[in-house]
Amino acid sequence: ANVKYDYLIVGSGLFGSVFAYEANKAGKKCLVIDRRNHSGGNVHCQNLEGINVHSYGAHIFHTDSLQIWKYVNQFADFNHYINSPLALSEGKLYNLPFNMNTFYQLWGVKTPSEARSIIEAEVNSSNFKTPANLEEQALSLVGESIYKKFIQHYTKKQWGRDASCLPAFIIKRLPLRYTYNNNYFNDRYQGIPIGGYNLVVNKMLQNIELRLSHDFFKDRSFFESLAEKIVFTGKIDEFYQYQYGKLEYRSLKFEHEIHDIQDYQGNAVVNYCDLTAAFTRIIEHKHFEFGTQKSTVITKEYAINESLNSEPYYPINDTKNMKILKRYQCLADKESNVIFGGRLAEYRYYDMHQVIASALKKASDEQWK
Ligand code: FAD
Ligand code: UDP
Repeated sequence: ANVKYDYLIVGSGLFGSVFAYEANKAGKKCLVIDRRNHSGGNVHCQNLEGINVHSYGAHIFHTDSLQIWKYVNQFADFNHYINSPLALSEGKLYNLPFNMNTFYQLWGVKTPSEARSIIEAEVNSSNFKTPANLEEQALSLVGESIYKKFIQHYTKKQWGRDASCLPAFIIKRLPLRYTYNNNYFNDRYQGIPIGGYNLVVNKMLQNIELRLSHDFFKDRSFFESLAEKIVFTGKIDEFYQYQYGKLEYRSLKFEHEIHDIQDYQGNAVVNYCDLTAAFTRIIEHKHFEFGTQKSTVITKEYAINESLNSEPYYPINDTKNMKILKRYQCLADKESNVIFGGRLAEYRYYDMHQVIASALKKASDEQWK
């Protein structure tokens, strides 16, 4: 009787915001709630010293899909930022992703064929036919020297476990190239929204009712009674009261620092590949937007175990968790009025463009009956 909305959307991250925008456009009445005190989920930015500070870690938009690129460009213009992180290992800086600059810095080799012969010799000596984990995958892509210098310890810090206990696909995110090209992504389109990510999300949600600092689970039956359908973008295991056990996540801790200097590290992202630094990377936010402010803001990013007060960030898609996920997905498949989507509800290591694609797919599946 008091069903007031067509959709209750739990979570105002990119999935929830894209879905809400599409539903609203189709004339559906939506309520978006978020347990945080701001919208945007992990793409949220805060303004410090006139700089858009990525509150939850560096976010660089990239996609190979013209359709997704056009879609996000409705909400903001994007600048020409290209991500080219540096890696600090044993006191020396190297270019990423692994490319001719890195190989020159490592071995002094100048031509692709010289680099290839070193890497191929190392790869052939590892001899894995079907790599079963991240370590085997890395050894069979880039060989032992690069693995030991840039991957082994960084991965241990990032995931809290050895690379041999992690799924292989994680490392396939990184390109390997025999050209002098420091672009971290292979995708055709890339950039940062001019004015920041909040602009994008605010525009998606501008005609939609939004209640912040509201946790779905604090008043579940009330929220469920409000709408015909629920779009859930929180944790799928929490939705089902952890009845088959907890899905594991890796969490993060961010330490933001303001420095009274114009430039701290000369680049947006520097990865710390050794165990001597406890953080995994330092982000200097102004460089995402070519900022010329007098001061600068940096963020040290630490990967930590998930605990009661920490946010879940990275799904740990190993065999054990994927088995648990399958059981939750069986329950989810039987729901007729709940749609699950996004990094937490789908338990997938999604980038922004993939979350948007998933939200658009699930919105179009609705056919707005
Ligand atoms: P989220 O952004 O997590 O949003 C979910 C929302 O739901 C949150 O706001 C949460 O508060 C809310 N919520 C959860 N449970 C409840 C509840 N019970 N009640 C109410 N609200 C609830 N992608 C890229 O493309 N490029 C990058 O460079 C990049 N860098 C990243 C760096 C880091 C450190 C991280 C963690 C991610 C990065 N990503 C990047 C991935 C990107 O953040 C995600 O793909 C995207 O933001 C996920 O959107 P989402 O809506 O699925 O989830
Ligand atoms: N990685 C690494 N060293 C690096 C950068 C990445 O070992 O300097 C590995 C690490 O296991 C990481 C994975 O590659 O989890 C994916 O890296 P990416 O930069 O794509 O991760 P994200 O930005 O999502 O944290």
